[in-house]
Amino acid sequence: MSHRAAAKTKVHVRAPGKINVFLKVGRLQDDGYHDVASAYQAVSLFEDVRAYQADDFSVSVTGSVDLDGVPTDETNIAVQAAKLLARETGHQGGVHLEIEKHVPAAGGMGGGSADAAAALLACDHLWGTALPRERMLELAAELGADVPFALTGGTAIGTGRGDKLSPALAQGHSHWVLVLPDSGLSTPEVYHELDRHRQRNGSTLLPVTDRPEVDPKVLQALRAGDPHMLAESMHNDLQAAALQLEPALIDILELGEANGALTGIVSGSGPTIAFLAADVDSALDLQVALSAARLDVVRVSGPVHGARVLAE
Ligand code: ATP
Repeated sequence: MSHRAAAKTKVHVRAPGKINVFLKVGRLQDDGYHDVASAYQAVSLFEDVRAYQADDFSVSVTGSVDLDGVPTDETNIAVQAAKLLARETGHQGGVHLEIEKHVPAAGGMGGGSADAAAALLACDHLWGTALPRERMLELAAELGADVPFALTGGTAIGTGRGDKLSPALAQGHSHWVLVLPDSGLSTPEVYHELDRHRQRNGSTLLPVTDRPEVDPKVLQALRAGDPHMLAESMHNDLQAAALQLEPALIDILELGEANGALTGIVSGSGPTIAFLAADVDSALDLQVALSAARLDVVRVSGPVHGARVLAE
């Protein structure tokens, strides 16, 4: 008897973007990569991916964010995810993927990773391939370091390339106000800038470790659900590099903090800025103040669930 579930004609999956509330980057390794220690929180800014039965592989992209630079050919990471699942399972057909983007492209919030996670889950349901969860997480890690987290969601600690996940105990909800960029920053470029910065300032910086760790204060703040404690312990090693490449972000950070944010941080490799608010009312006030400065602002909360199939 086959263990495969019945194939469907259409599947809709929603997957979240993320904020790195903590990101420490280890030394540049010989293979050109860095190990990281990250605390991720999935937030209520979602990518919607709809998958339809097709003979070959194709993708179309719409959404509320600037779509420049988002590929609509087989280099789209969602198509790569679908092809990887087909190879893994021996599935013979293809898929047409419709991506509805709300997470800024190249914004440091893992939008492409959310699309890849959504495509894996959607195709698994569409084709009835019933891949075991553990294997799906392994395929996700092959696609990109942030893809496993887009599948699991919630709050988690990531080590290795960021893909070795363990859930973090977290209480309550964080209220965030995000300033979305008009253009993206390339993740590899931000890492290169960090490496250059470390080379230039080597003797004056704290030693850079091979095995970075998440500060226990962050874990304590998440466990306690205390936004003030979290604000004090948030940190991003990539922030200085992102600010070097996009100096205009400095004014945005100052504006948010002058208007009631507990703190602001560059999310991942940026250039999205995430402001943490004490509660929903101060998040609303902050949203109004930043919108008045003609910034593209969105209010979100976290943690939220990982990629999941929606009933249509
Ligand atoms: P991360 O925070 O995981 O580093 P990011 O949010 O900064 O990622 P993404 O939006 O995930 O960046 O995409 C980075 C690059 O990947 C884009 O500039 C684009 O060239 C390419 N790309 C491939 N597929 C997609 C996709 N589905 N959505 C967005 N970008 C994609």
